[in-house]
Amino acid sequence: MFKQFVKKYNLPNYRITQIYEGYYKNFISSWDELTTLPKDLREKLKEEIPFSKLIFVSNNTSKDGNTNKVLFKTEKDNYIESVLMKEKDRNTVCVSCMSGCPVGCIFCATGQMGLNELLDSQQILDQILYFCRELSLKNEKVTNIVYMGMGEPLLNLENVARSIMIIADKEKMAFSKRRVTVSTSGHVQNLRIFLGKNLGVKIAISLHAANQKLRERLMPGVASNNYLENLLDTIDSYTQKSNKRITYEYVLLRNVNDSVEDAKELANLLKGRLALVNLINYNEVDCLPFKKSKKTVLFKKILEERGITCTIRKSLGEDIKGACGQLGI
Ligand code: SF4
Repeated sequence: MFKQFVKKYNLPNYRITQIYEGYYKNFISSWDELTTLPKDLREKLKEEIPFSKLIFVSNNTSKDGNTNKVLFKTEKDNYIESVLMKEKDRNTVCVSCMSGCPVGCIFCATGQMGLNELLDSQQILDQILYFCRELSLKNEKVTNIVYMGMGEPLLNLENVARSIMIIADKEKMAFSKRRVTVSTSGHVQNLRIFLGKNLGVKIAISLHAANQKLRERLMPGVASNNYLENLLDTIDSYTQKSNKRITYEYVLLRNVNDSVEDAKELANLLKGRLALVNLINYNEVDCLPFKKSKKTVLFKKILEERGITCTIRKSLGEDIKGACGQLGI
């Protein structure tokens, strides 16, 4: 859109660099702040290119101050949420790629909304740029970006891919791809297409069950048409070529998928694979019946005893319903 603007007014090429510098690198808060451009051009930008396609609604901060959940509205009046998680050495933005989600995982608040709207690449970027601007006011930076907010990224594949290309473009945000993670529930065909694009980002698979039957129960919208075996075959051929480790997300639901047998089955499934298991202790939501597991430590121990590398994800923002699986309007 910026290139078209420059072309339309027959501007010299350095104008595009000035726009990129201000917008993507210096994180200006409005077109008025783009003072490298003459006033008449700033006025034209204001008239023709919305500074953000998302409308800011509210910003909620957790009690410990480490998590911000921001509510935005789209032009079609749908709501989305994005989260900034602050840890010792990292500021991670969790972006949404949809309002709602069609996959309908039975433990996820977003999944109960159904799909309202797919976000375009600019709307995805708007969430990241919002936090970049906020942090730059405190001389801080976004260090990591995870596509783990509302929606299944691989069901909005082209917009997600486009947003990643802008994030990583040296002339634009110049963000390291190694610090970008795309998390998917495992739509096999789209995963193949996505991997084929060689975007260089990290991949996380939301596994949540070590067998097809339980996965179908927990994640009906994806697992019934995308068999676990096919998903793992796709990942295996990717890891063989790339030698990149895959993260498997596993949310622990009390008495659903957290037994000793479940842990052993998961260890068997991933044995010999280049894998990291990220255990997520369930973040409870009022509208759903699931409870936090009491066996997280035991589950981890069983996996590690069987040679599987395993971490427990730190839960951030649970008190503002900004933690994993809690996003929903
Ligand atoms: S867990 Fe992810 S894929 Fe499943 S319903 Fe929630 S947002 Fe969608």
